[in-house]
Amino acid sequence: MTSLSKKPAIEKKQTKYIFVVGGVMSGVGKGITTSSISMLLQARGLRVTALKIDPYINVDAGTMNPTEHGEVFVLSDGDETDQDMGNYERFLNTNLTSTNYMTTGRVYRTVIENERNLKYQGKCVQVVPHIPLEVIRRIKKAAKDADADVVTIEVGGTVGEYENILFLEAIRMLKLRHPQDVITVMVSYLPVPGKIGEMKTKPTQHAVRTLNGTGIHPDFIIARSDRPLDKRRKEKLALFCNVSEERLISAPDVESIYEVPLNFEKDHLSDLLLERLSLMPRTPSRLAPWKKFTTQVRNADQEVHIAVVGKYFDTGDFVLSDAYISVLEAIKYSAYTLGSKPVIHWLSAQDFTNGVPKGALDMYDGILVPGGFGESGIEGKINVVEFARTHAVPYFGICYGMQLMVIEYARHKLKLAGAHTVEVDAKTPYSVIDIMPEQKKLMAAGNYGGTMRLGTYPAELTKGTTARSLYGVAEVEERHRHRYEVNPEYIESLTNAGLVFSGRSPDRTLMEIAELPKEVHPFFLGTQFHPEFTARPLRPHPLFTGFVRAAIERGTK
Ligand code: GLN
Repeated sequence: MTSLSKKPAIEKKQTKYIFVVGGVMSGVGKGITTSSISMLLQARGLRVTALKIDPYINVDAGTMNPTEHGEVFVLSDGDETDQDMGNYERFLNTNLTSTNYMTTGRVYRTVIENERNLKYQGKCVQVVPHIPLEVIRRIKKAAKDADADVVTIEVGGTVGEYENILFLEAIRMLKLRHPQDVITVMVSYLPVPGKIGEMKTKPTQHAVRTLNGTGIHPDFIIARSDRPLDKRRKEKLALFCNVSEERLISAPDVESIYEVPLNFEKDHLSDLLLERLSLMPRTPSRLAPWKKFTTQVRNADQEVHIAVVGKYFDTGDFVLSDAYISVLEAIKYSAYTLGSKPVIHWLSAQDFTNGVPKGALDMYDGILVPGGFGESGIEGKINVVEFARTHAVPYFGICYGMQLMVIEYARHKLKLAGAHTVEVDAKTPYSVIDIMPEQKKLMAAGNYGGTMRLGTYPAELTKGTTARSLYGVAEVEERHRHRYEVNPEYIESLTNAGLVFSGRSPDRTLMEIAELPKEVHPFFLGTQFHPEFTARPLRPHPLFTGFVRAAIERGTK
């Protein structure tokens, strides 16, 4: 037998790569498209992992203002990433790692470090090919780490932008090496101008041409619009964009983002992707749990009104709930599984700085104070916490929301006037929230990026508490992102005054959950960690469920 006819003992699997790029304009659903494609292929039994490429120079999203950029999504390994990573985790119901996220800053940093370490053996290090090669290396590493059959990669921004050219170059180079295994999906917007009343395909035609200029042709076009593609538009797009009609997928506006994958399947997207990539499904489609969830969403009718009191809302005339997207999603999942329709009210903390005006919070069934930083709006939030505590309104405090709960309790129950967090008042007579010693050193050195207590840490739960009964287990792991902590010096007096620390780090030094007993308050609980990052449509978070259930009970009283 010649070696040529010999079959390798184990057939080497060739990973498939699906790139998702944007045409025409951003903000029309590339993230949800990437999440949906990933989920649909996963539902066919394939191992799928999803990557996000952000074209900005920032090494991570941690230093960006949430009002401009939206939420900073923290992965279990502590990476501070883009909110799209949250969508991938939620749709795939899996934990991703920092290998799944890259920015221009990250890519350049590695190449420059490599050059300094003589890794290029004296060669001239150039933007092309070295930058795209590093992008490809990162994509392949993520594929290997996840042992993925398919990798979906979302390229931030839109084609034609200066910023993402090198990532498009990486697609071209990867496809040159693996022509059968790399495809590109373009998410494009088709406007229906009010005066004309007809869906226009021209901007998409231009976007395809721009993409063609980088040596890439889209294999699929996801046609985002306020309505489905009609026959005429399909014919036009197919002809002028050179993409067959069946690979033009309608993506009309939908009531909820969870409908998107099901809509794609109406156009047989997963079959078409598998066919294009010569992949066999491993199982029949397993979309039943997802369909059940979307039915719950559609059927939810009893309204539960939740006030979220924050400060990252204002961008001109718009309310940007993106800064709290995971919190919003987590509330929804719990509400839907309880058969309720969540109605979220975004309240600005500044409106409560001088106290809670009479009646201003009466219409809400539950109040949530999410994570936050710094001084602005803080007194307003503390007033809201006091109102919730003294009026038996279900309250859920996350991170800053828990710290403010402790401050409020110290000020009003322990009568420690001026009790504060040193984050806001370094000279407070009662620093009930203080900086952790190791953080002190980093800040003294002016080191702010990626230096908080980040990522997953365990917490032990105290028997007989709300937290323990909701989780139903004795130890949990949750994701963190903070610099400050409940000051151990005050724990005894706070506990004596009735506040229960129901979750602690295993060495007992860090307070992870604070709550009031059920006999005192229907639901008054705060977490130093961020439970919202691990709430999933198919696995709502028990603490959110406890909070929403209490809110529903109040609403029906
Ligand atoms: N600002 C607080 C801290 O750094 C809370 C952080 C947060 O809410 N994510 O500890």
